[in-house]
Amino acid sequence: MTTDVLPSYVTGRWVTPAADGKAVADASTGRELCRVSSDGIDLAEVFDYARTVGGPAVRALTFHRRALKLKELAGYLNDRVAKYHDLSYATGTTKRDAVVDIDGGISTTFVYGSKGRREMPNDTVYLDGPTEPLGRAGTFAGQHIYTSLTGVAVQINAFNFPVWGMLEKLAPTFLSGLPTVVKPATSTAHLTRAVVADIIESGILPEGALQLVCGSLPDFLDHLGEQDVVAFTGSAATATALRSHRNVVAGGVRFTAEADSLNFSILGPDAVAGTEEFDLFVRGLVTELSVKAGQKCTAIRRALVPAALMDDVASAVRERIESKVVVGDPRADGVTMGPVVSIAQRDEVLRSLKSLAVHATFVVGDATASVDPVGADAESGAFVPPTVLRFDDPWSDAAHDVEAFGPVTSLLPYDDTDQAVRLAARGKGSLVGSVVSHDPAFVRAVVLGTAPWHGRVLVLDRDDAKESTGHGSPLPHLVHGGPGRAGGGEELGGIRGVLAHMQRTAVQASPAMLTAITGRWTTGAERNEAEHPFSKSLAELRIGDAVTAGPRVITADDVAHFAEFTGDTFYAHTNPEAAAANPFFPGIVAHGYLVVSIAAGLFVWPEPGPVLANYGLENLRFITPVSPGDSVTVTLTAKQITPRETDDYGEVRWDADVRNQDGDQVAAYDVLTLVEKTKHR
Ligand code: NDP
Repeated sequence: MTTDVLPSYVTGRWVTPAADGKAVADASTGRELCRVSSDGIDLAEVFDYARTVGGPAVRALTFHRRALKLKELAGYLNDRVAKYHDLSYATGTTKRDAVVDIDGGISTTFVYGSKGRREMPNDTVYLDGPTEPLGRAGTFAGQHIYTSLTGVAVQINAFNFPVWGMLEKLAPTFLSGLPTVVKPATSTAHLTRAVVADIIESGILPEGALQLVCGSLPDFLDHLGEQDVVAFTGSAATATALRSHRNVVAGGVRFTAEADSLNFSILGPDAVAGTEEFDLFVRGLVTELSVKAGQKCTAIRRALVPAALMDDVASAVRERIESKVVVGDPRADGVTMGPVVSIAQRDEVLRSLKSLAVHATFVVGDATASVDPVGADAESGAFVPPTVLRFDDPWSDAAHDVEAFGPVTSLLPYDDTDQAVRLAARGKGSLVGSVVSHDPAFVRAVVLGTAPWHGRVLVLDRDDAKESTGHGSPLPHLVHGGPGRAGGGEELGGIRGVLAHMQRTAVQASPAMLTAITGRWTTGAERNEAEHPFSKSLAELRIGDAVTAGPRVITADDVAHFAEFTGDTFYAHTNPEAAAANPFFPGIVAHGYLVVSIAAGLFVWPEPGPVLANYGLENLRFITPVSPGDSVTVTLTAKQITPRETDDYGEVRWDADVRNQDGDQVAAYDVLTLVEKTKHR
């Protein structure tokens, strides 16, 4: 029976190609699920639609509004996970595997929905770092800004994470202001399609922000240029082919790749059999081997073991696999590891296994790779048994070059720390490595030695094991990607992943112009002191509204009182001789916190008003010491106003500038307050 061809969502509608397309089968049963083709889809039109319809609609929203949409979207998808889990079985994944892909993708979207509001301004321009003063008189300064690209983001995903792979790219990209075209891997496109169908139906994202092309993307790079981004996950061979396209080499297309990776895990010499770390190492190895049947870009391919512990590790791994790993149709009871995604992928794994086996012996599994799957037929399904190889020569090229993308790992012996580090680096760049040890000196040497070759390093021991998310889990807060063979790309990493899709520009201008451009008051720009700014609600408050208060003399009694009252009797505030001997102080000086407190007492607006709370200070520096008899004056200026979309108040950042009677700056900091949008009192 011929099944339906998957539709694609392009230029505002679902389109079903007329051509037959490529058949996709259930990984366990071999039953045909659907066909996939992009025949008839005009990619130039798709990209143009993204640029002219999607992009402007996304960029009309501030970062906070985009983030709120992501939050809403994550909630919407969360209500539908059961449907995705059901579909996921056909891709060969167990319930546990599907959680990593589906729930992991949704939680990544939630994280960006939250970080976008907490760590980005409610604006469309992102300021990178403080203003750099560039002229002596203060009339010329520089500021780095990030703005949205005006092109399209094309994401090309691997088969192993049809949901997470899409959402982990979509969330930061959407936040950055770019529309996305998703190209799922053919063998799991039906699951991606189901999620995209719900996203489109929800109407949460602006039209044109997300399009889906199932099937191949012939010559797609011909239609991309300087403002476009391609994020690829898959094989190094495809990455290399795409990266060599003239529009990447010379046409300015931004291209990032996450490709093959022979990740390592090192067992420390301290972690002998019987220690918690030994068990953690063995458990981690078997988990990474069996989750998603080892089809994880982060799976451990090379387990580096002290030579003296090889036998112990080999038997513990064998025992754990035999007692824990049950291969079969993931829908059958008791199955803990499903098939790989397709018969073609199984054959690919078996080919790799053959080249590895020439130089190694089998600890678990054998050269026939035969398997008796629970609830399935070994012939129709794409089953590969868990396989562990043992290399006596740790420098064998195959161990470091051949990635068997299935439930396969290799044990390699090492003699000392230096050799372990060099072996890890022999992977020529990987996504992740882990060090399992409770010896701080060994851990430091391995982490610092392997970090230049890896995007992420996990240190696992008895102290963090309980809360550890494990070797294989990329987290939205942390960067995901790796140098060299791993593709050289970097994704996620919180807001870093958003900024990676934007353009950073150094703007040089006068303080007034920088204030106008950035929406953040810049030192040297005009102030307006007509009314106390604490009397104004967000509706009335403007950047540059300010109050200057003082002078107030700080007396010796003030200093002595503050010391006694707070208990801060540090000698510089209480002992004249000792204070005078300090190279930084002329004698007794006022506490910095006293200066800040007096400044607050000077600029306060005591009546009930729109200011709700002071929730902190940032960048506080005490610059010139204040001696008894000195006077201080403070100027507080509204620096940045961030209304909250979902609350009746917003955040106001104030520039606080405290000076003494000579005009010297004694303290500088930002005061952070919450202010009502409209006046209630
Ligand atoms: P591929 O590189 O063949 O495919 C990855 C993605 O690229 C798929 O969506 C594929 O589409 C697409 N693609 C392939 N050729 C082109 C092209 N010329 N233009 C545009 N898109 C293209 O990798 P596989 O998924 O087949 O996996 C093969 C191997 O890659 C694995 O065995 C493993 O070694 C490695 N891999 C590594 C991963 C990692 O993250 N490190 C993840 C997954 C795989 P389509 O499916 O339609 O062909």
